[in-house]
Amino acid sequence: MASFSEIVEEARLSARALLDYGDNLFNPTLRLGVTGLSRAGKTVFITALVHGLTRGGRFPVFESLATGRIARAHLEPQPDDAVPRFAYENHLRTLIEARRWPNSTTDISELRLVIDYQRQNGADRTLTLDIVDYPGEWLLDLPLLAKSYEQWAAESLALSRQQPRAPLALQWHAQLATLDAHAHEDEQVTLAAAKLFTEYLRACRDERFAMSLLPPGRFLMPGNLAGSPALTFAPLDVPVEGPAPEGSLWAMMRRRYEAYKDVVVRPFFRDHFSRLDRQIVLVDALAAFNAGPEALHDLEAALAGILDCFRIGRATFFSALFRPRIDRILFAATKADHLHHSSHDRLEAILRRMLDRAATRAEVAGAAVDVVALAAVRATREATVARGRDKLPSILGTPVNGEVANGEIFDGETEVATFPGDLPVDLDAFFSSDGAFRGLTSASAEKADFRFLRFRPPLLASDDAEGPALPHIRLDRALQFLIGDRLQ
Ligand code: GDP
Repeated sequence: MASFSEIVEEARLSARALLDYGDNLFNPTLRLGVTGLSRAGKTVFITALVHGLTRGGRFPVFESLATGRIARAHLEPQPDDAVPRFAYENHLRTLIEARRWPNSTTDISELRLVIDYQRQNGADRTLTLDIVDYPGEWLLDLPLLAKSYEQWAAESLALSRQQPRAPLALQWHAQLATLDAHAHEDEQVTLAAAKLFTEYLRACRDERFAMSLLPPGRFLMPGNLAGSPALTFAPLDVPVEGPAPEGSLWAMMRRRYEAYKDVVVRPFFRDHFSRLDRQIVLVDALAAFNAGPEALHDLEAALAGILDCFRIGRATFFSALFRPRIDRILFAATKADHLHHSSHDRLEAILRRMLDRAATRAEVAGAAVDVVALAAVRATREATVARGRDKLPSILGTPVNGEVANGEIFDGETEVATFPGDLPVDLDAFFSSDGAFRGLTSASAEKADFRFLRFRPPLLASDDAEGPALPHIRLDRALQFLIGDRLQ
């Protein structure tokens, strides 16, 4: 039977759904969610997308723009009063004028774009596109709605005992071993446990390990809730069946875990996630490749978690009325400009394989799913560099100031050629390998360790009054899948 809080939740959702429905009748609106784990490329993606649509980018595969049916696209005031506006203008200036990458997403934000276009039958129409940017860490919290504190604690502990997490969890585990779950509740003990647990999560996120599956998401992305009790709890080593004695440390942790679901997870589901029509999930697969097989396994588990999220609401929690209405989901491997174009299809194939494996558990009923490898802003060019008799396909880019490779410190001005090497064709072989994957470095290159180099955004020149267009890789394909059908 549905609990009281679930009934209240459903009532709120239905009111919201009716409002949205009314709006949509008079003013066709599409809500596009943009998500991905921290540093996956959300901010850069949205900035490039909005710039390309408002300015008119080179988007041959985005049919409505390429054929001239889009008359104009412009920004309008952000409509949701309680959500910050995506700082598009600042981000664009940083990217183009300062040639620096903009500040990353740390909270939800939104932007409204209005597109005037001509239908294929000649009629003039308008589509309102609301772009909602939110951390993927928050999305990965949705499965918590179906888990008790004890289940979550047991899963988190089990995960923390595996490689490469175990050594990172030593301090937290040491403190955990001193705790008695049945002892009287204690604020200071809880604070210390939450701090150590958060430090462990943060260490897992470090690029050397690049772990993806790290709920609760707000521990790393607290937004405006930092320090509140709802974010101050940690797993205890307790039996899954309970019960927690009244007044105990265990009961306190459990209460706060439930508060986290009430204060953070349910409102996110209700106010944001359940209102989305389309979703793009950005994935920094190259970072996981660089970190090794464990990071890839972890990414795969996170992808399964994300796919699960799109099923939530279709099954247990909310009735048919309030199902998430997302009908297209695009998974995009970002930063493809770190690879030679001959590897772009391969990157796509790898992501597709990982999703297929993840999808054996999760069937995303009713939604079309596609995969693309893209660079929202292309920071590199391609060239062939002669090495003795060999001609190596390479990429040229300007490493950001202070980057170090092979003992060389870059000044942010000098362009270098790097040899990105090939991605594996056979993912299984990679997973079963000894982990010594040289991935993005080429066996044939002598100075090959350029794989962690971050490049500056490209230098752009243009006489155009509207300023330069941003170069990209397959951004138009992403747009065609995400909104192309609504502009026909
Ligand atoms: P977010 O945390 O998902 O908002 O990630 P950002 O959009 O801020 O991107 C994080 C970092 O990834 C940026 O600072 C860039 O260094 C890099 N990045 C993002 N998109 C691209 C891209 O298209 N090409 C390249 N070369 N780097 C990118």
